[in-house]
Amino acid sequence: MLRPCSDSRPVAGGRRRGASRGVDGSSTLSLLVQKFGGTSVADSDKILAAARRAIQAHQRGDQVLVVVSARGHTTDELVALAREITDRPPAREMDMLLSTGEQVSVALMAMAIERLGVPAISFTGAQIGLTTDSYHTKARIRNISTDRMKSALDDGKIVIVAGFQGVDENYNITTLGRGGSDTTAVALAAVLGAAACEIYTDVDGVYTTDPRIVPEARKIDRISYDEMLELASLGAGVMHSRSIEFAKKYGVPIHVRSSFSDAPGTWIVAADDARRLGVAVTGAALAKDEARITMVAVPDRPGVVHTIFHTIAKANIVVDMIVQNVSVKGAAEISFTVAKADLPDVLTAAEAAAKAVGASTVMHDSDVAKVSVVGLGMRTHTGVATTMFEALAKEGINIQMITTSEIKISVLVDRAKAAAALRAVHKAYLLDEVHAEVHAPFVPSSAANRAMKLVPLADDGATDTRPRGMEDLVIAGVDLDETQAGVSLFGVPDEPGYAAKVFRAIADAGVFVDMIVQNVSLEGNTDLSFTVPRESADRAAAAVEPLARGRIAIEPALAKLAVSGVGMRTHTGVATAMFGALAERSINIKLINTSEVRINVGADIASGQIALECLRRVFAVNGD
Ligand code: ASP
Ligand code: MG
Repeated sequence: MLRPCSDSRPVAGGRRRGASRGVDGSSTLSLLVQKFGGTSVADSDKILAAARRAIQAHQRGDQVLVVVSARGHTTDELVALAREITDRPPAREMDMLLSTGEQVSVALMAMAIERLGVPAISFTGAQIGLTTDSYHTKARIRNISTDRMKSALDDGKIVIVAGFQGVDENYNITTLGRGGSDTTAVALAAVLGAAACEIYTDVDGVYTTDPRIVPEARKIDRISYDEMLELASLGAGVMHSRSIEFAKKYGVPIHVRSSFSDAPGTWIVAADDARRLGVAVTGAALAKDEARITMVAVPDRPGVVHTIFHTIAKANIVVDMIVQNVSVKGAAEISFTVAKADLPDVLTAAEAAAKAVGASTVMHDSDVAKVSVVGLGMRTHTGVATTMFEALAKEGINIQMITTSEIKISVLVDRAKAAAALRAVHKAYLLDEVHAEVHAPFVPSSAANRAMKLVPLADDGATDTRPRGMEDLVIAGVDLDETQAGVSLFGVPDEPGYAAKVFRAIADAGVFVDMIVQNVSLEGNTDLSFTVPRESADRAAAAVEPLARGRIAIEPALAKLAVSGVGMRTHTGVATAMFGALAERSINIKLINTSEVRINVGADIASGQIALECLRRVFAVNGD
């Protein structure tokens, strides 16, 4: 289980707003971080309006730190300008160029606040000692020195900081990747111990799905960090994923809201604060531009999975879904998805990996999209997957691949059907209906002791307990579940509606399904595997028997190993480290499924304990 960061937070009755404590323990006034996106500072009127918001908060007695993005489409224009000069602008010079957009905004914002009668001071990333690694155009934050900001805040000034930028150890200007101002804002809220981080934008919150595709989408009042991370592809339109990882790691409550209204937006908070009773699914998302790679006839022996993903990680490609289901005659198919843009690079790496492990071929499909539903409530509701599969069946949409996590179900479908799939699923979970609001307005508590105690891991997968940078990957937990059995159906037809029938039968038999893994079909059929509590394995198999078109196999006891953490999606090393550790112990991987925040592996029951110990060691997680 992922340890919720609220574990270490003061419980009800703890200190509320007013005096709060910075992460260094010093007592300060309550601090609010406000971030204004590009559209919120597009012209002088909007800058003045944003300035007034900052001043309002300041007048309420908060210390206020403002983070701004470049105005309007400035960053896009700068990118276009560079492309007019050269097809391949040096990354260092790109950062030099792009960082100017935010510098313009901070100066104008400081002038606006001064004009409205409140002292203000602007800083670039370098001026607040925001240091990063040297990966130009996608740098990660290492450290931030708070002295200069704190003394300006203590002088009663509104402090304005340029988002998206920093400097590396040689004072080269770096940027954090497109949309990175959110990450700057949340990082500053974390190091300064802010009560909350407000993200002012041109939408009024996070929606149950993308309202451009599903106009019936509704605003969500509260959502947990994990749900937001699992909805990364939905969230991406609203928030930079890395900012959510940061917020979770340091327990920063985020309030996404409109700069053009005073209505409350969406709070992104710890699971304990976000839970809604009686609701299984919180949102649905679409990742439209995915590509799928399948390695065919991968020999089923320890170490092969590691070789494959190590080769891909070395090419610096972030892998999204990974699916491996049970092997047939000593060979298995392994599929994974990447962003479509990464396809050429990933194919080169995959060909090399296939050769190294002796797989027969590498196939791909560049016209796929991933549809996901996410909800904390899935942990406790049965039949959640069935609803999704039935909704797709009704629309005649074929499910090409399935993977699940504790709080997410993802399917891969034909890109041309993606929007219809999203609409169908959104409706099936009644996400378009008004639910009685289950939450009272959220009140952020003190920032004291909020950060999770987590262990950083180097990106290359090597254990490294030195926290080198604030954005280093952290692993929250390694778990072993020995209560599950595996059921596999072979010869599953590649046609819409089959998964729906299977999981309807299982739900009707009253069996709770945990992992579901379905790989793409080759030659018109595939295998579908799922895990259920051991005692229900026979019942589940009997329930699906009438539907079987081929053999049904039961693995009466399976060891399910899960690694969960923060940053797993944006760091490439986790899967590699996990598969590497298992390979070293010659533990064969039977099933894999992944999500944004966890990797699940099914292995032989006899190797469960050994696997758990070695994973705990590799990820330096204590067994508690
Ligand atoms: N200006 C940068 C961009 O457009 C950073 C940001 O807006 O967050 O990507
Ligand atoms: Mg943005």
